[in-house]
Amino acid sequence: MSFKSLGLNPALLKAVEKQGYTQPSPIQIKAIPHILEGRDVLASAQTGTGKTAGFTLPMLQILDATRSDKFRPIRALILTPTRELAAQVYDNVKDYGAYLNMKSTVVFGGVKAASQIATIRQGVDVLVATPGRLLDLENQKALSLKRVEILVLDEADRMLDMGFLRDIKRIMSLMPAKRQNLMFSATFSKDIKQLAEGILTNPILVEA
Ligand code: AMP
Repeated sequence: MSFKSLGLNPALLKAVEKQGYTQPSPIQIKAIPHILEGRDVLASAQTGTGKTAGFTLPMLQILDATRSDKFRPIRALILTPTRELAAQVYDNVKDYGAYLNMKSTVVFGGVKAASQIATIRQGVDVLVATPGRLLDLENQKALSLKRVEILVLDEADRMLDMGFLRDIKRIMSLMPAKRQNLMFSATFSKDIKQLAEGILTNPILVEA
């Protein structure tokens, strides 16, 4: 199995090659084609399985194929439970998007908001965020989620463990109802299944 046979475009194949990946991981093989088809995906995947590339590569391809505005609204939102994970995912988004015309940034709490706000004002296609700071910035009208087309919930179980359920629900209410949803979780408790039912539409189930 090759990355090419999963349907990825040349710019993404080049980025993958630059990372030194020779073949896709099981979660990538199972998830990428469905994501490219526009399906909602519920994936059970631990850290270390290659899950980040599993959602980022097809997400970037979809965004790249359908860009229309000169101004860049936030079209993809990746929510993570911690700032460390947010920073890691953002690094991946930059690496995998190296050969695309794609702008991205990351926002999380514990640091001043001013430079985060300035970057968003210039227009970003992909925003990686932790829930609290994202809502702070939305409250301040520093960003809008009204044009989000793709939502990723990364490590959804940890987000619930950290008490982010209310924030997640509020964030959902700020986005268009019609969008593609990708949810990744290491475990599948009753709460996670309930969250998934509220967010995903007719999802494909994928296990790493
Ligand atoms: P993740 O599970 O997303 O945290 O990824 C774990 C690590 O695997 C990261 O360091 C990635 O750079 C790496 N990785 C992702 N996909 C592949 C692949 N297909 N081949 C080799 N390494 C990969």
